[in-house]
Parts: sequence; C-alpha cells; structure tokens
Amino acid sequence: MDLLVVGSGFFGLTIAERAAASGRKVTVIDRRPHIGGNAYSEDEATTGIEVHRYGAHLFHTSNPGVWEYVNRFTTFTDYVHRVYTNHKGVVFPLPINLGTINQFFQAAYSPEEAKALVHELAGEFDAKDAANLEEKGIALIGRPLYEAFIRDYTAKQWQTDPKDLPAEVISRLPVRYNYDNRYFNDTWEGLPTDGYTAWLERMADHANIEVKLDTDFFDESQPLHRTATVGQLPIVYTGPVDRYFEYTEGALSWRTLDFEQEVLDVGDFQGTSVMNYADADVPFTRIHEFKHFHPERADRYPADKTVIMREFSRFAAREDEPYYPVNTPEDRAGLVAYRDLAKGEKDVFFGGRLGTYQYLDMHMAIGSALSMWNNQLA
Ligand code: FAD
Ligand code: UDP
Repeated sequence: MDLLVVGSGFFGLTIAERAAASGRKVTVIDRRPHIGGNAYSEDEATTGIEVHRYGAHLFHTSNPGVWEYVNRFTTFTDYVHRVYTNHKGVVFPLPINLGTINQFFQAAYSPEEAKALVHELAGEFDAKDAANLEEKGIALIGRPLYEAFIRDYTAKQWQTDPKDLPAEVISRLPVRYNYDNRYFNDTWEGLPTDGYTAWLERMADHANIEVKLDTDFFDESQPLHRTATVGQLPIVYTGPVDRYFEYTEGALSWRTLDFEQEVLDVGDFQGTSVMNYADADVPFTRIHEFKHFHPERADRYPADKTVIMREFSRFAAREDEPYYPVNTPEDRAGLVAYRDLAKGEKDVFFGGRLGTYQYLDMHMAIGSALSMWNNQLA
C-alpha cells in the first residue's frame, strides 16, 4: 500500500482515483457501511425513487478543470435547480427576484422602480459595511422582504440571532432585478444521469483501489487504525480535524440535520423539488420531493406515489453527523490551533469538509482534492 485515505467522500475518492491512475496502490477506509460520504444516494425500496440520504445534492460548477474531471465518471442531466418558498400560506419564487418583489407588493414594478423601492426600504443599512447577516439582509432587500423570507428561516436554520451570524451566509443567495429564478449562477449544472452512487462507485472502480467499509480510523481493533499507520505511510485524512487531535483545542461546533422521510400515495405532492418554509410556526426549513430532480425518469417512477423529506436543523452533539460548520469566533480560534497541530503531523494531509472545517460544495471538495494531489502528493 502506497497511500491510506480515511473517508470515501468526494475529497477522499478524488485523491484515491488520481493516485490509482498514477500507478499507486491505495486503500480507502470509511466508518460508514457505504462509500460516497454525504453525496451518497439510494433508491427508496418501495418506489425506486432516488433519495439523497444526507440531504438533497445539486451539482454545479464554473471550474472547467472540475467539469472535465467529473465528466469522466458520469454524464449529467439538464436539470436546473429552482426553489420556492411558502410564506403565510402563499408561494413565492426564490432567490429573491423581480417576480418575488412584485408578488409580495402586489405590484408591476420595472427593474429600476424595484431597485429604488428596495433602496428606500433598506433605509439606514449599506450592503458594503454590513457587520452581520441582519444588516446585510436588510441592505440587500429592505426590511419587509427580509422579515418575510430571511429572518425566521435563518433563525430556524441556525438557531442563532441573525445579528450574531456572519454577513457571508446570506451572500450565497443572489438578489435579481429580473425574472430569472435559477438558484445557481454557475456555468454548468445538472444531476448525475445514473445517480450519485453510480458516479461515486465508478471513481473507486480501479484495480489499485481497495475500499474497506465499516472501518473507523480510531478503532484500535482494526489493523489500519491511527497508531498503526501514522508515520508508516502517507495518509489523507478527511474526518473531523478536532476528533483527530482528541479535541485538545476544544470541539468545533457544527449544525446537524434531521430528515423525516415519507412515501405518499399521490403522484405529485408539491409540484417542484424543493419548497422552503419561511415562517417560524412551521418547525422544518424545507421539504424535498425527490422525483422532481429527475423528470426524465417519469416512465420509470410510479405515477401514483412520491417520496418527500422534511428537513429540520439543530446544533450537533458529538454523536450526531456534522453538516454545517457554525464558525463562531471560538471555532475560528480553535481551527487556527488545529491547523498548527496538523502541520506537525508527519505525512498526514488534512482535506475535505470535515478535515478543514469548511463548508465545501461538491465541486469545491473535488477541486481542492485535485490541487492537493497535483501540488503536494503526486
Ligand atoms: P464527506 O462527504 O463528509 O466525506 C467524509 C467521509 O469521511 C464520510 O464518508 C465519513 O463517514 C468518513 N469518516 C469520517 N470520520 C471517519 C473515521 N474516523 N474513519 C473512517 N471514515 C471516517 N454540495 C453541492 O455541491 N451541492 C449541494 O446541493 C449540496 N448540498 C448539501 C446538503 C447538505 C445537507 C450537506 C451537509 C452538504 C451538501 N453539499 C452540497 C456538500 C457536499 O456534501 C460536500 O461537498 C461533500 O460531501 C464533501 O466531500 P468530503 O469528502 O469532503 O466529505
Ligand atoms: N436563506 C433564507 N431563506 C431562504 C433560503 C435561504 O433566509 O428561503 C438564508 C439562510 O440563512 C441560509 C442561507 O440563506 O442559511 C443560505 O441558503 P442556501 O439555500 O444556500 O442554504 P443551504 O442549501 O446550504 O442550506
């Protein structure tokens, strides 16, 4: 074995695939019973509808190198992601665009009229010196739209006062003064034609790659555990960085999600793949309806059944799956300390979402793994 990879998510599999293609023998271990990390999907048993087990995953990128790379393992459908939101029992398009604004104000504003109105409603706040999510939100769309679509959804998603959240959280969502309601701005977008798991399996399908599932790096009863391997061969570690160092610098905080899945005896529950719920009196943040991710499979999926998943957000305890880094000032200080410790670990390379404590979209995880391979490992 030339390389041990801990974690079979997109980061670990990209490293493994590159190493195998260059003639190295690689072992990938994962503590879960399946490969693929959080992008893993499986067909729901009674309907055959593909369900993303760890939350809906939409692939999008503007990076030509990543796009070329991922197309070696899968083709993509022409799915374009659109999201709607339910506020006080009325459905509006997201991200906030001229359609949302005109529906909200029961008006027919032109782009210039809408900009002038939002500017007036934003009042005292200016987007470029917004100090937190609330100020940024109000500066971008004005207080009435902020209070309708952002304030309570954000409170449910983060359980943190929007005044204590970084302004960048909201910068992910564009505001548009036209009727374009594509959720992403990227050059390429789509879903893997044969599903995520087929794509992930193709990445691991190489004579030089051995995958061992149900294998925890910190489990002393399995032969590839930490004390038996660190210092003996290069290791790419994509698990949580604080866990690696036994939480000596404190536990980094994460948000986790609970998913409530249901098979319904209706052909179409909500008419679209993702419906957000903007208001505080609905406990979940959104409902996913998976058949809408693949309209091209209509002849394969049952016409009289559908699978939906309600998503609930809360702070993660140590035994929960970590999903979103919270990134408080204490977390950032802890991360700096862990980065210093990581530099001292001979031949251990920390990567991916958990290993670097960063929110990474799939194309970013793959892109940073390709960089690590080219610049440090190859
Ligand atoms: P992961 O996929 O988390 O893989 C890490 C792996 O390491 C896991 O399989 C884990 O079991 C394993 N591991 C951890 N500790 C150990 C250990 N001790 N021993 C052995 N194995 C271990 N990205 C998008 O581009 N579009 C989206 O729409 C999107 N939606 C998302 C929705 C949600 C709810 C979440 C949480 C993420 C979403 N992402 C999305 C991000 C995407 O999931 C990540 O980019 C991707 O998972 C990163 O891959 P990774 O390899 O870094 O981490
Ligand atoms: N957001 C919101 N209302 C919405 C959708 C998003 O307030 O209807 C805010 C919220 O703070 C969220 C952030 O915008 O955390 C980013 O939204 P995105 O849809 O990108 O979140 P993700 O899909 O990563 O959960």
